[in-house]
Amino acid sequence: MTSDAPVSGADIFECQNCGQCCCGFGGTYVTPQNIAEIADYLGLDSEQVRKNYCAPSGKKTVLAQKPGGYCVFWDEKCTIHPVKPRMCRAWPFIENVLRAPENWYIMADSCPGIKPGVSEPALVACVRHELARLEAHNAILP
Ligand code: SF4
Ligand code: SF4
Repeated sequence: MTSDAPVSGADIFECQNCGQCCCGFGGTYVTPQNIAEIADYLGLDSEQVRKNYCAPSGKKTVLAQKPGGYCVFWDEKCTIHPVKPRMCRAWPFIENVLRAPENWYIMADSCPGIKPGVSEPALVACVRHELARLEAHNAILP
């Protein structure tokens, strides 16, 4: 039984650091800005990051994966946490949930941090709020 009472992001998600979202899932897209931020964080230049930590995916670029499918930056935790790409920062409050809220309950099957006991209206309002918060945070980054 779920209610339509408003919920916060913390009410319906608490990361368990299991790393499952850093494994497989078709890759983590990175923009040139993401690559520059990762390079800065690692004390490298963008070309080194592109060459050593990225891979092509069609016309886009994704973070490379280690054998076994884990992201190249996963080592018991995200080793680039402060500069991880947008799709990692946003998870699990993603646009796909706004388009099709039932995705939340499917995502909960593979992400133990997601609490599925929330109604769709409350979920959609919460995801909208979390995405707006992320964009506001990105807007004030240097
Ligand atoms: S799958 Fe979910 S709980 Fe596990 S690390 Fe990713 S976000 Fe956290
Ligand atoms: S950048 Fe970090 S959070 Fe994103 S997939 Fe890689 S290890 Fe996971």
